[in-house]
Amino acid sequence: MFSVLVDGRTVDTVDDDESVTVEIGGDDTTYRCSSCGNALSETADGHWLDECGGADCPDADPDNEGKGGGHVPAAVPLSWCNHVRVHADESQDSVTVYLRVGTKSFALAARRIPDDAESVLAGRLLLDVPHPDAPGGHGPLTPLRDGTYLIGS
Ligand SMILES: [Zn+2]
Repeated sequence: MFSVLVDGRTVDTVDDDESVTVEIGGDDTTYRCSSCGNALSETADGHWLDECGGADCPDADPDNEGKGGGHVPAAVPLSWCNHVRVHADESQDSVTVYLRVGTKSFALAARRIPDDAESVLAGRLLLDVPHPDAPGGHGPLTPLRDGTYLIGS
């Protein structure tokens, strides 16, 4: 069913595969120090600590007293996304992309209305996107403008 390409090269798949999942990240690190590279976590009172619980950065610039010798937190790119799955369903003539952001899931689907359907949409393609009033299953969304939502509230 699928031909899967990774960086432009075909990857072997099983003929009856209907979905492909891409895992992103893997170590749950959402922040790293931009100076020393250590994984960081933020304390309740807003301090940044490395894996050993240290607040002092070994690579802190001694000439920059404004930073106080502490780590410099930087968000890890794509750390907000757990995985993406693409599912092709021949019986529904649809393709759905599932996106998992933290503990929230979202789905975007394209499907064709059967040619013999008694509808003015017969044979047409539809795109279903997440929206705040969608029934069940996805995380909360707050509309910002047409087609763009803030994840959460
Ligand atoms: Zn550091």
